[in-house]
Amino acid sequence: MSNFELVLRCPACQSGWPNFHIELQCACGFQVKAIEGIPILRATQANERLDYYSGQKLLNRINSKNVGIPRINNAFARNDLMLELGAGVDVCNAPNLVKTDAFIYSSQLDYVVDAHCMPFEDNSFDFVFSLAVFEHLYAPWVAAKEIFRVLRPGGRVYILTAFMQHMHGYPYHYFNMTTMGLREIFKDFEIIKCMPSPHCPLTQIGHIMDDLGKMTDALPANPTAQELKMHLSKASQLIPMVQGQLIKKESNFDLWQQIAPGVELFARKPAAEI
Ligand SMILES: [Zn+2]
Repeated sequence: MSNFELVLRCPACQSGWPNFHIELQCACGFQVKAIEGIPILRATQANERLDYYSGQKLLNRINSKNVGIPRINNAFARNDLMLELGAGVDVCNAPNLVKTDAFIYSSQLDYVVDAHCMPFEDNSFDFVFSLAVFEHLYAPWVAAKEIFRVLRPGGRVYILTAFMQHMHGYPYHYFNMTTMGLREIFKDFEIIKCMPSPHCPLTQIGHIMDDLGKMTDALPANPTAQELKMHLSKASQLIPMVQGQLIKKESNFDLWQQIAPGVELFARKPAAEI
């Protein structure tokens, strides 16, 4: 990140902070602390663990500039000022990308923020995106309203979130969403596209099969359960080999919509605010 003029505001009292710095003490009492130089711009519980990094490799690194999602590529091509929610281990260091997360998984994060209560002024960004984050929010409809607020009129949002996925932490997991649910919480926006996501591989279904297979281990020796485990494991290995063909087949769309591991939404904040 940087050199873009981004005005921060207090996450507790919403006062603007034109002269932001670490250790800043807001009139309301909120004090900006930092971990490894990364400002903590959200309310925290006493002794809450924020640092899931500490030099360990927990998650696979990504680079948002080459994740192969056209909506994000286009935003980079337009040189949009971009906000990433749940940047996790994104190693992209584009100057127009502001990387945020509620927890620290990488030393390259710009700010620790709460998507339900963002420390940014209204109409700050041209583009907001989040990959595999909304299932980890306790009130994703509140985050959708916050995205609306911080986007400039005409600004765009891209969300990819879980539908048919097994429970996964990092550290919380609250809601998996259907396309209907996503449309509902983004109803203030002009929705351009909301569909099962081609960017969330069917191998996620394989994880469910693997978990089911592991459950058979708890049974006393049982040939049927052993056979089931073998078939599930085989199926989960075969899925990646055909997933592209399966989801590209137009006649499969309705079925895919019922079992898609992820759903995505692309929408625009109306140019004239409603
Ligand atoms: Zn304050």
